[in-house]
Amino acid sequence: MSLSLNGQVAAITGAASGIGFACAKSLVAAGASVALVDRDAPALDAACAELGGNAFAVDIDLLDPASVGTMLPRILERFGQLDIFHANAGAYIGGPIVEGDPDQWDRMLNLNINAAFRSIHAVLPYMVERQTGDIVMTSSIAGIVPVAWEPIYTASKFAVQAFVHTVRRQVAPSGIRVGAVCPGPVRTALIADWPQAKLDAALAAGDLMEAEDVADAVLFMLSRRRNVTIRDLVILPQRNDL
Ligand code: NAD
Repeated sequence: MSLSLNGQVAAITGAASGIGFACAKSLVAAGASVALVDRDAPALDAACAELGGNAFAVDIDLLDPASVGTMLPRILERFGQLDIFHANAGAYIGGPIVEGDPDQWDRMLNLNINAAFRSIHAVLPYMVERQTGDIVMTSSIAGIVPVAWEPIYTASKFAVQAFVHTVRRQVAPSGIRVGAVCPGPVRTALIADWPQAKLDAALAAGDLMEAEDVADAVLFMLSRRRNVTIRDLVILPQRNDL
């Protein structure tokens, strides 16, 4: 049984592009109002213009705690409530560890882990008070299977999985569901720094999913009856050896 999202309010981070934007589009089509949270203001405005009146741009730099502190009040001022929070924004670094730049790792780890956790912390007390809500995190297959090509990214998504599994149990008594969508490779800007040969081979073989495939999976998670939680949803291209 699938429930409608009519009248619900969602917020999605990293919603100006890729998976976040596809999720925003799908939730608006399912009847929800959606706050698109991103630091890329021009892309955010273009995304909201495309989605129409039920989309609202919230320009936030998730790495800036003061900026994150304004997020929930701005959403509540616009829509009056928040039912769904999707912590989706993230970055990617792959490649040999010996050639890596620890300063770049820090930036990615801060976004994928610390900023994601902070953004959820910013909305959870509100959901606990209401005794209802949904938290979704965009994790990765790299949060389930260690991917040797991308140790730091893998480590960041294992941290996300640990957070989802522990926080889910903490807030379940408050009527809140917490789950992770764990995609394999998706054709977005995020994998633009894959080696060109790897990208070309994956595209030629049809080994990349589209952001809309992930959005369908997230909609499935959110439209279950409220006593059902999809804790981890792994979605892969059909040909994938992870
Ligand atoms: P993307 O690069 O298309 O989108 C990321 C968005 O996050 C951008 O709009 C960007 O402006 C925003 N963002 C970055 N830093 C920010 C900050 N400090 N504050 C606010 N917004 C910020 O990437 P995507 O592929 O859609 O990635 C979304 C999520 O999906 C990430 O968590 C990523 O790890 C995960 N994921 C992606 C893939 C893939 O193959 N693309 C696979 C598995 C998981």
